[in-house]
Amino acid sequence: MTTRPNDDAVRLPRIDAPTEADKPAPTTFDPPARRVGFALVGLGRLTLDELLPALLRSRHCRLAAVVSGDRDKALKVARQHGLEARSVYDYQNFDRIADDPAVDVVYIVLPNALHEEFTVRAARAGKHVLCEKPMANTAAECSRMIEACERAGRRLMIAYRCHHEPNMLALKRMLRGQRLGALREFVSSNAQAMGDPSHWRMKRSLAGGGPLPDIGIYCINSLRFLTGEEPSEVWGETWSPPDDPRFGEVEASVRFAMRFPSGLRATCHAGYDSHKSQFFRLMGSEGWAELDPAYAYRGVRMRVATVIDGEDVTQVPAVGEDNQFAAEMDHMAECVRSGSRPFASGEEGLQDMRLIEAIYRSANEARWIAVEAPQGTSRSRPPRES
Ligand code: NAD
Repeated sequence: MTTRPNDDAVRLPRIDAPTEADKPAPTTFDPPARRVGFALVGLGRLTLDELLPALLRSRHCRLAAVVSGDRDKALKVARQHGLEARSVYDYQNFDRIADDPAVDVVYIVLPNALHEEFTVRAARAGKHVLCEKPMANTAAECSRMIEACERAGRRLMIAYRCHHEPNMLALKRMLRGQRLGALREFVSSNAQAMGDPSHWRMKRSLAGGGPLPDIGIYCINSLRFLTGEEPSEVWGETWSPPDDPRFGEVEASVRFAMRFPSGLRATCHAGYDSHKSQFFRLMGSEGWAELDPAYAYRGVRMRVATVIDGEDVTQVPAVGEDNQFAAEMDHMAECVRSGSRPFASGEEGLQDMRLIEAIYRSANEARWIAVEAPQGTSRSRPPRES
């Protein structure tokens, strides 16, 4: 891999008056030979619908290999993206990727139960790892993934695409500026109606749980990301209808709550049995902000309510849109080049998994469960005073 940054930025002369908002400089794209090479492991819905198109929109990344159990499908994808057949791997010969200098990063897009195995194998092959959320099925698996990447001296990032969503970033800036006052309540739901009882998401051994680790994780991670705070106690309650073949192994829905040391409280829901619904409202002593939809790939929309000149005002900030997947992969590429720690490190994925385990434990034991804050600091969890 060539790590030299692209310095071919193009500048255009300004044509509008200085009273107009200045436009950002045109995006600078790295030439193909300088891009960081990604191997996509798993050619399912997320890879085909979102990640492959996003790679074409990224600034620093290129597709370098695909890994699949279905060779015909993999060869078709390879042809579409200009890859040779030698860049197609399967799950058995995956370890040969160690000898493929075109691959810098292995992006794991498999059922959750396989994240640990492929992270460990990728790290042993000397590759950096971008792993889909949830990081794994258990906190113990997450710890082994962190250890494997540390031992190999490779970066590990968890694919929390919402960290790159412009509305989320704008809201994070607003909170840093105390726009909503002291934070009091967060209310959120992330739900979608699942249909196929045979899908891996409905199998506990492959998914690790039901809607909680799959989509409830967005409520947990988004609040931690926005506020930089860590819950000190969690509560949960799961529900499944007795005769629905979809929910023999995983819950149909989960309600959960979190308490934070600052006094902030969260009430959340994640469900596989109600129509798609993705929103949150964050309420402070001096205003509220709402994202609805909140956790979507596209079309995220924010409303903010505060008092301005003595009047209640609700505004829809014109924040714009970005491809979250392209931005996430570009961030990984920049970390690989600079050697810096990704914003969403393995420790962030591990902490979400600890919270998920505690919520399930609460549901089993019908009581609040105390949770320890993670040790140390990270880029998304800076020192408290900053
Ligand atoms: P999917 O079912 O569409 O694809 C999974 C792929 O894994 C398929 O190609 C399948 O053939 C392959 N596979 C390999 N071994 C398998 C096994 N033992 N059982 C079943 N499939 C197996 O799933 P997906 O929606 O692409 O999800 C993949 C991962 O991406 C999951 O971890 C999921 O949580 C995550 N995901 C993240 C987002 C996001 O917005 N970041 C969105 C969707 C999915």
